[in-house]
Amino acid sequence: MIARDTLEFVLQRPQGFDFQAGQNISLKLSRLLYEDDRRGRRILSLASAPHEQDLVLATRLTGSGFKKTLVDGPLQKVELGGPRGKLLRDESGPAVFIAGGIGITPFKSMVLDALHRGLAQPMTLLYSNRTLADAAYHKLFAELGQCEGRFTYVPTVTRDDDAEWKGERRRIDASFIRDYVPDFNAVTFYLCGPPAMVDAVVEILKNENVSQQRILSESFWGY
Ligand SMILES: Cc1cc2nc3c(=O)[nH]c(=O)nc-3n(C[C@H](O)[C@H](O)[C@H](O)COP(=O)(O)OP(=O)(O)OC[C@H]3O[C@@H](n4cnc5c(N)ncnc54)[C@H](O)[C@@H]3O)c2cc1C
Repeated sequence: MIARDTLEFVLQRPQGFDFQAGQNISLKLSRLLYEDDRRGRRILSLASAPHEQDLVLATRLTGSGFKKTLVDGPLQKVELGGPRGKLLRDESGPAVFIAGGIGITPFKSMVLDALHRGLAQPMTLLYSNRTLADAAYHKLFAELGQCEGRFTYVPTVTRDDDAEWKGERRRIDASFIRDYVPDFNAVTFYLCGPPAMVDAVVEILKNENVSQQRILSESFWGY
C-alpha cells in the first residue's frame, strides 16, 4: 500500500516489451476471484520508467471485482495490450506536470525517466490530493525535489486539517499555477487525473492562451 486505499503492484516484464515514459497498458486478469462487469480488463498507466526492470502499476482500491482480485489473488498470468498513450514528453522544453490523486502514475514514470537520462530541461510537478495520506509517492517526490536541481515538487492538500502541514492547501487554479510557472508559453503542460479536474485545468490554460499543442492530457475514468 503506497497511500490510503492505494495499491502498487508489479508485473514481470515480458521479453521485448518496450514503452515510453507516460504510456499506459490494458491489463486483463486471467482469473477473476470476484464478479466484475468489465470482465477483468482495465487501462492502467505504467508508474515505472522504461529503464527499470519490472512494470510497476498503482491503483486506488474501490471494491470492484478487478481490484479485489488484485489484492486477494496475486501471482497469475495476465494479458497486456499496448503500450499506448498521449502523455509523451516534449524534450525540447521545460515540463509542468499537473496531477490529481492517482493521476500521478504516468508522471512518476516521466520524472524518473528524465532524471535517469539526464535531460537538462526543468520539470515542475503540481500534485493535488485531499489529504497527504492520499498522495502516492509523496516521499519519493519530496526527496527528489530536494536533491535534484531540475525538479520542483509542489504538493497541495485540499481537505486536510493537519496543523503540521505547512505546504499548499489551495486547489490548483489559475493563480496557483501562475505562482509556480512564471511563463505559461515557455512550457508544455501534462495533465492527468479525474476527468473533472483535467477538464477544469485545460479550460484554465486555454483562457491563459496556452496553445493546444502545449497541453497534453489524459483523464482517468471510473472514480
Ligand atoms: C489512459 C488511462 C490510464 C489510466 N491509468 C490508471 C492508473 O494508472 N491507475 C488507476 O488506478 N486507474 C487508471 N485508470 C482508470 C482505470 O482504467 C479504471 O477505470 C479505474 O481504476 C476504475 O476501475 P475500478 O475497477 O475501480 O472501477 P469500475 O468498476 O471499473 O468502474 C467504476 C465506474 O466507472 C465507469 N467507467 C469506468 N471506466 C470508464 C470509461 N473508460 N469510460 C466511462 N466510464 C467508465 C464504470 O462504468 C463504472 O460505473 C486509467 C484510465 C485511463 C483511460
